[in-house]
Amino acid sequence: MDLSNRVALVTGAGQGIGRAIALRLAEAGATVVVNDLAETAERVAEEIRAHGRPSLAVRADVGSSPDVTRLVATAIASYGRVDILVNNAGIARDQLLIRMSDEDWDRVLNTDLKSVFLCTRAVLKSMLKQRWGRIISIASIVGLVGNPGQANYASAKAGIIGFTRSIAKEVASRGITANAIAPGFIDTEMTQHLAEGQRQELKKRIPLGYLGSPGDVAEAVAFLASEEARYITGQVLSVDGGMVMA
Ligand code: NAP
Repeated sequence: MDLSNRVALVTGAGQGIGRAIALRLAEAGATVVVNDLAETAERVAEEIRAHGRPSLAVRADVGSSPDVTRLVATAIASYGRVDILVNNAGIARDQLLIRMSDEDWDRVLNTDLKSVFLCTRAVLKSMLKQRWGRIISIASIVGLVGNPGQANYASAKAGIIGFTRSIAKEVASRGITANAIAPGFIDTEMTQHLAEGQRQELKKRIPLGYLGSPGDVAEAVAFLASEEARYITGQVLSVDGGMVMA
């Protein structure tokens, strides 16, 4: 997969899956704009530059419209365009519905779903003009099958899937594809809180028998971002060790 001459923007890329995606796209030759809330974004951009690829860190809250406008304007001012958008930033605030606060609902829907709308809308003009683009959004198998304690997160992730299919139809005639990836359980900060017993139980439900790595998701993103994936759009690709087969 050759992504040289492509400019990628990866949100929430200071750690975990986003970091692995940013590094993988850079390895394939892309120039990468690394976004995160924290200064971890600078560290990842520095890591990419140390490997000889151009990279820029932009700290911004992807749930905030003015921040997203600034993020995309900075990317375009620096590199001329955005060819590949990876909507990766996401949070979870788990709680049984009966105890879920308005804030838990709003925070997750804002960070995990509204951000996808804001970032996609902001990059689309540049993609439409050049008649080429890749929009890849990180959903979750929870958005496909639900999970107790995650009504907010599952709603946001299911929303990403509906959003992806709608815009895939809207922009297909302009050479832009939109796809979602639904990871299963991936070994990152987000899954660190699982107790050892829960981990063992979980593994029994994964046909391949182990948690995925951030790199497993990054490989799927790199493929969907490539020219080779030009005929794939509006799809949801599960990267989950076989946990959800539908
Ligand atoms: P993670 O380790 O918590 O990383 C998420 C990153 O997003 C963090 O660097 C975080 O920054 C950043 N972020 C959070 N809110 C943001 C905002 N408003 N603006 C910009 N950046 C923001 O999580 P991960 O496991 O890598 O997950 C990445 C994506 O995969 C998420 O969308 C998640 O829902 C999805 N996913 C993960 C799993 C899994 O098993 N890990 C499974 C399915 C789907 P700070 O740390 O500075 O807040």
